[in-house]
Amino acid sequence: MALDYFDATVYNIIDESPTVKRFQLEFKDLEKFEFTAGQYVKVDFPIEDKKTYRQYSISSIPKGDNKIELLIVYNPVGKGTNYLFKVVKIGTILKVSKALGRFVLPESSDKDICFICTGVGLAPFRSMILDALENKKDFKRLDLIFGSRNKEDLLHYEELKELSEKYDNFNYYPTLSRSGEEWTGKKGYVHPIYQELYKEHQDAQFYLCGWDSMISEAKTNLKEIGYTRRDILFEKYD
Ligand SMILES: Cc1cc2nc3c(=O)[nH]c(=O)nc-3n(C[C@H](O)[C@H](O)[C@H](O)COP(=O)(O)OP(=O)(O)OC[C@H]3O[C@@H](n4cnc5c(N)ncnc54)[C@H](O)[C@@H]3O)c2cc1C
Repeated sequence: MALDYFDATVYNIIDESPTVKRFQLEFKDLEKFEFTAGQYVKVDFPIEDKKTYRQYSISSIPKGDNKIELLIVYNPVGKGTNYLFKVVKIGTILKVSKALGRFVLPESSDKDICFICTGVGLAPFRSMILDALENKKDFKRLDLIFGSRNKEDLLHYEELKELSEKYDNFNYYPTLSRSGEEWTGKKGYVHPIYQELYKEHQDAQFYLCGWDSMISEAKTNLKEIGYTRRDILFEKYD
């Protein structure tokens, strides 16, 4: 069955890093845009291509209103992101589907929840973490392991740092693969961090999001610690 698209007006565009923008959208014809934290939408572009839509995770907290936010990285050879970064302006109307996908959190959990991502793989996790913490859901422990190259690529850094200071059950582990001396936080890739944190194989659910190479490596490493397919959920962007 063909998917219906809603009109969504771009009401703000924020530079989040040198290559990533936050697109803030409002569905003016809807009172409320229904979604669960972690879901994605399809955005249909007026481009010449075999497939004219692209999927984007919703990165904002479900607030019960008619607004959502997307966190999108520029792909120099991509038709969709070239349209978004070069043509779309404040006031542009985009065609956006209903929310889709099952990459979501349970209502509550006694297990440790570990989110592992790089780059814009953060998008669904920002929504899930804000929802779990700010909407007061019952989670014992949430760990976010987020990898970037440089400090300027650390998306939503201040917000996530503040959340980790405000909530005892949320731990934020940003790690930089190409940092200079001034960065005193974790250095290197995401993998050694969860390998150390979860080496005792405690009861945990893992959420992985981003590009295939990071996800494949994380799945292999987690299986080596003793976790099974049921313990690992993932959303692949390519
Ligand atoms: C469920 C789901 C959720 C997604 N959520 C997000 C999200 O929240 N944010 C986001 O930015 N993307 C997200 N994506 C990826 C997104 O749908 C597009 O694939 C991406 O924006 C590239 O689209 P494009 O039209 O610019 O490139 P295309 O024209 O589709 O791609 C052209 C080629 O470039 C390659 N390519 C894709 N991305 C890059 C890149 N960054 N750098 C270099 N080469 C690349 C592709 O493999 C392809 O061969 C998601 C994908 C899925 C499946």
